Amino acid sequence: MTTTPSSRSCQSSSTSTAPRLWLKQPLAIFTGNQQDARGGLVVQGSTIVELIAADSQPTGPVDQIWDARRHVLLPGLINTHHHLYQTLTRAFPPALNKRLFPWLQTLYPVWARLQPQMLHAATQLGIAELLLSGCTTVADHHYLFPQALTEAIDIQVEAASSLGARLMLTRGSMSLGQEQGGLPPQTTVQDEDTILADSERVIKRYHQHGAGSQVQIALAPCSPFSVTPQLMKDSAALARQYGVRLHTHLAETLDEDAFCLRTLGKRPLDYLASVDWLGEDVWLAHGIHFNDEEVQELGRQRMGIAHCPSSNMILASGICRTRELEAAGVHVGLAVDGSASNDGSNMIAEVRQALLINRLRYQADEVTHLDALRWATQGSARVLGRDDIGELAAGKQADVACFTLDELRFSGAHDPLAALVICGAQQADAVMVGGQWRVQQGQLLDLDVTALRQRHQQQARLIAQAS
Ligand SMILES: [Zn+2]
Repeated sequence: MTTTPSSRSCQSSSTSTAPRLWLKQPLAIFTGNQQDARGGLVVQGSTIVELIAADSQPTGPVDQIWDARRHVLLPGLINTHHHLYQTLTRAFPPALNKRLFPWLQTLYPVWARLQPQMLHAATQLGIAELLLSGCTTVADHHYLFPQALTEAIDIQVEAASSLGARLMLTRGSMSLGQEQGGLPPQTTVQDEDTILADSERVIKRYHQHGAGSQVQIALAPCSPFSVTPQLMKDSAALARQYGVRLHTHLAETLDEDAFCLRTLGKRPLDYLASVDWLGEDVWLAHGIHFNDEEVQELGRQRMGIAHCPSSNMILASGICRTRELEAAGVHVGLAVDGSASNDGSNMIAEVRQALLINRLRYQADEVTHLDALRWATQGSARVLGRDDIGELAAGKQADVACFTLDELRFSGAHDPLAALVICGAQQADAVMVGGQWRVQQGQLLDLDVTALRQRHQQQARLIAQAS
C-alpha cells in the first residue's frame, strides 16, 4: 500500500501573496468567541486573517467574494471519537438490541475478518459522511489489527488523503484475548512488542506537530477489558516520549465498573491512575459513570471527554455528566462514535442529539443549543489538544462549515443558529478545510460518491458473509 509522505512539523501555508477570499455577510455566524463577525470573514491561504463586524468592510482589498447571505457559518465541526471501520456493520441483525458486552462479543468475530480493501472503503465512506455534515477534523479509534491488516493506519492515511479532512488517527490495540480473560477473540489481538513497535513507527511516519497539522497520531489501547496494565503503561511512556496524545474508552457502562472491580480490584479511573494515564494529554470516550470525586480528579488533571450521545442512547449506556465535568475543569467535546453503535457519522445531527440527551439530565436553561455547538467546535478542539481549530478568529485555520436553511424543516424559523440545531440540520452546503473547499452545493468535490457507495456495500456484504 503506497502512502503519502508527510513532514513531522506542519507550518501554515498562508502567505501574504495568496488571494484573499471574503465569505461575505452570512445569514448568521457562530464564531465560538465574543467577536463580531456579522460581516463575515476573510480567508487567505490556509488561515482566517480577519473577522468583519456588522456593516463593515475588510481592511484591505479582497480578490474573491463568496456571497454567504443564505448561509449559517460555523467553525468546522470536530469529531473526537469514531470507529470508521464499523460503517461496514451498521444495523447488523445479530447485534441489534444488545447491551455493550454481548454487542461486542457478537461483532468481534465479524470484525476479525476485516481486510485492507474493507478498511479503505469504510474510512473513505465515513469521512465523506462526516465532511458532508460539516465536520472538518475526524478522530478515529482503530484497534483492529488482524493478520491481514497489520498496516491499518497506513491504509487509513492513504484512503483519507484525497478527501482533505484533518485526521487524528489513534493507533489502537488489543492484547487481552479470551484466553487471557479478555473479551475479544484471540485472532484480533496482537502481542505487545508488535503493538509498541508499530505505534512508534506510525508516530514517526505520520504525526505532524503544530498549527495546521493535517494528520496527527495518538496511542489508544482499546479499553480496560482488552489490554493488559503493562501495555497501558508502556503506551503512555511511548506517547509522552514523542509528545502525542493518549486515548481510550472509559466509564461507558456499569458492566465496565463491575469488570474492573472484579478483575483489577479498582474502579476504572483508579485503574487509569495506576497505569500513569491521568494527565491533560489524555482524552476518554464516553466518560459516563464517574462519581463526584472522580469528576473532580478529571478536572484537576485537565483531561478531555468525548461525549457520544447517540451511541450512549443506542446502547442504553447512560448520560454523560457534562455540566459537572466542565465545572470541574474537564474539556468536553462531541463525537459520533460508532458506526455500529450510532449508526451514522453525522456531526451536525449529533449536535442536536447532544442538546436533547442533556435535557434529560439538566434543566432547559442549563444546557442550550450554543453549548452543544461549543462542544462540537472549541470543546472538541481542546479535547484533541489543538488551539488552531474550533473557532472562527484571525490566525485560526480556515475550517468553516456553511449551512443553508432552505429546506422545509427550517421554514418558519426565526433564529438561524437555533434553527440549525433544533430543527435538525442534516447536511452542510459548503465546507472548507484549511482554506480549501471540500464540499460545495452539498456535494463532495474530490470523490465519486456513487462509486464509493457501491464499493463500500460490496465490502460490507463480504465482511458479513459466513455470519
Ligand atoms: Zn468507541
